[in-house]
Amino acid sequence: MDIYKDFHFEAAHRLPNVPEGHKCARLHGHSYQLRVTVSGDAPEPSGWVMDFADLKAVIRPVIDRLDHYYLNDIEGLENPTSENLCRWIWARLAPTLPSLRAVEIRETCTSGCIYRGD
Ligand SMILES: [Zn+2]
Repeated sequence: MDIYKDFHFEAAHRLPNVPEGHKCARLHGHSYQLRVTVSGDAPEPSGWVMDFADLKAVIRPVIDRLDHYYLNDIEGLENPTSENLCRWIWARLAPTLPSLRAVEIRETCTSGCIYRGD
């Protein structure tokens, strides 16, 4: 069974490796949507995979490192595509969240990335 929790954060970035003239080379920002999914059984007596509050407590410090920052300045995010952002978040959640199943980033209403750790 999968459960998930949604978050959002605001951040600026530019993509340094796109072809010359590409609009993503220019400095711009996104209202990023983040969904973190964990999986497991939901055995009684709890009847849940994990406490949503515990999930939030693990994710919040990671978001605090991104919210209202220029992503390119963050170590490991020099090329802050949605794909690399998913990998970066995954690497920081996985050690304390062994049941992590997916990290999903949406940078616009219609564009996003889902990373499942491989
Ligand atoms: Zn962008």
